[in-house]
Amino acid sequence: MTYRVTFWGTRGSIPTPGAHTVRYGGNTACVTVAGRDDRFVILDAGSGIRPLGQSLAQRVPGPGSLDILLSHTHWDHIQGLPFFQPLNIRGNTVRIYGAAQGSVPLEVILDRQMDPVVFPVPLKALAADLTVTEVTTGRFEIDGFEVVAFRLRHPGTTLGYRLVPLSGGPSLAYVTDNELGPGGSYDVPADWRTQLVTFLGGVDTLIHDAMYSQELIETRGGWGHSTPEQAVDLAAECGARHLVLFHHEPEHDDEALDRLLAKTQAHARSAARRLAVSAAMEGLVLNLS
Ligand SMILES: [Zn+2]
Ligand SMILES: [Zn+2]
Repeated sequence: MTYRVTFWGTRGSIPTPGAHTVRYGGNTACVTVAGRDDRFVILDAGSGIRPLGQSLAQRVPGPGSLDILLSHTHWDHIQGLPFFQPLNIRGNTVRIYGAAQGSVPLEVILDRQMDPVVFPVPLKALAADLTVTEVTTGRFEIDGFEVVAFRLRHPGTTLGYRLVPLSGGPSLAYVTDNELGPGGSYDVPADWRTQLVTFLGGVDTLIHDAMYSQELIETRGGWGHSTPEQAVDLAAECGARHLVLFHHEPEHDDEALDRLLAKTQAHARSAARRLAVSAAMEGLVLNLS
């Protein structure tokens, strides 16, 4: 089956609007994976989910049913939710899936983001019919896709997702906010890297955290992110066809990202000859078939 992957937000940590980020984009994480019958999965609800909501309101005037899969609940992955237009339309059904954080349920975290002390409209006052479902590692089905969730090396409970159309087709992995280097201390098994490579084995398209340049990782080891070179080495090890660098560092403008991409592609030419490497751009559409 052919399906379409669209990038609505590519940035990590905080939105970075402005003339210097116009090409790669300033919105935080949001990607859609659209399969059959216009059904699609929304990956993360960073500020990129706001333009997605506007686009949906223009295309689909009537009530609809939407599924949002969260990698985790750091701000840059949920901050667009209060501004997601379909949540304000009566008759819409919006289902949010993601992990709890420790003993705090996912619904409570989303509720707190819209607490009256920081936001005027509470989560429960939204017009749409909203359900929140907690997921853990393992397999489930959503919108015509088989999804496998895998625990990543990042503060809190952060999940990477591998999606394959139920009717067959190439696989896609969304692995953002993941530390491939030795830094940090995370609640993952000792053979985590081996399990990660198995989880990603033979994946067609790998969207991976590539936030820090080599210079930045020197001082930010343990913060839960990777370098583009580390992402290339992982992609090579798991036999991916296409690596898409994602979760861009807010301090990197378009020119810095051009330089980082060129350097990464040079590394891939020697480390992973058959691997295609690109950098996520807001508005980028990939057709997988
Ligand atoms: Zn993030
Ligand atoms: Zn994070």
